[in-house]
Amino acid sequence: MTQSNRIAPDQLPRADFASIPRYSAAADTEIDLSDNTNQWGAPPAASALLRQALDVSRYPDMYGESLKRTVAKMTGLGPECVVTGNGSDDVLDCVIRAFAAPGDCIAHPDPTFVMVPVFSRINGITPVPVPLTADFSMDADALLATNARIIYLCSPNNPTATPTSVDTIQRIISGARGLVIIDEAYAEFTGLDGFLAEAPVLERVVVCRTLSKAYGLAGLRVGYATAAPRIIEIIEKSRGPFKLNIMAERAAVEALTTDAEWVAARVRDAVASRDRLATELRALGLTPLPSVANFLLVPTPKAFALATALREKGIAIRPFRELPGIGDAFRITAAPWPVMERALSALADALRNAS
Ligand code: PMP
Repeated sequence: MTQSNRIAPDQLPRADFASIPRYSAAADTEIDLSDNTNQWGAPPAASALLRQALDVSRYPDMYGESLKRTVAKMTGLGPECVVTGNGSDDVLDCVIRAFAAPGDCIAHPDPTFVMVPVFSRINGITPVPVPLTADFSMDADALLATNARIIYLCSPNNPTATPTSVDTIQRIISGARGLVIIDEAYAEFTGLDGFLAEAPVLERVVVCRTLSKAYGLAGLRVGYATAAPRIIEIIEKSRGPFKLNIMAERAAVEALTTDAEWVAARVRDAVASRDRLATELRALGLTPLPSVANFLLVPTPKAFALATALREKGIAIRPFRELPGIGDAFRITAAPWPVMERALSALADALRNAS
């Protein structure tokens, strides 16, 4: 290789990576209400299992068979209808890459989960943002009008915490040109079944779930999805083997089985805390969006000032800039009430100082 033929160090990366952000929202605070995780902690049986010494000298199961069987039993489906991943982030990335080629489009509501346009661009696929309707639902007609190869839906939606009606989702499924991804990361908080068990018969639908939110296992990185077997087979090609480590697979099975009642009780706690938090925020003159998840989105031009003030008191909330149709806003996770009281008191102080 002659010196003149060599690619200059700053030219080594793919050209389009220059404008792709490196996600960073690390909280590093005493209290972290920024990421919608389970603020009551990890489930007991899964935690007990993690304290045992496991032999990690061998590879894990290639595709997480025991977790596939567990999800299959939960949903009344066969394991061939389930794919697992290193968090639902990984599942989403693998699905996007397998069902759209570089140059294709993926339509997604705007605002929605911030990683969706990022995973799309990393895979050379063009994200097409479609504003939510005035009542924060997915806009079925506008999403369908994109004619995109993939339509991504998120219900309840992040960061708005708002639901989308079953009718709207069904209309999108029946009119979609290609694949429909339904991200149900927060479904457990809605009290509804969602589309998890139905995905395989719908043929063009992938439903994603995570153990990072209601199930309290964000640190282990476990996600899964259901779909028709021929879709799962393609996603597993894109995923590759060994994505789920031994500890994560075993703890996830415990969380979904032995810990199911603990999780259901913590979901009830989170919903009660969220509703009480919404009432208290309204008393402070704020107007949280109606939520069916374990967090609230609170539109306010003071979002960034409030987040900075809370951070100084060791509390992380997540500010967002200029969300379409909403403006600046902050997102706050429901937590045990003593934690909420600390956050509310810090917010009240910050609002007094900001006015
Ligand atoms: N989907 C949505 C809507 C989310 O909010 C998140 C996490 N913030 C994820 C997927 C990814 O979750 P994980 O990778 O931890 O499973």
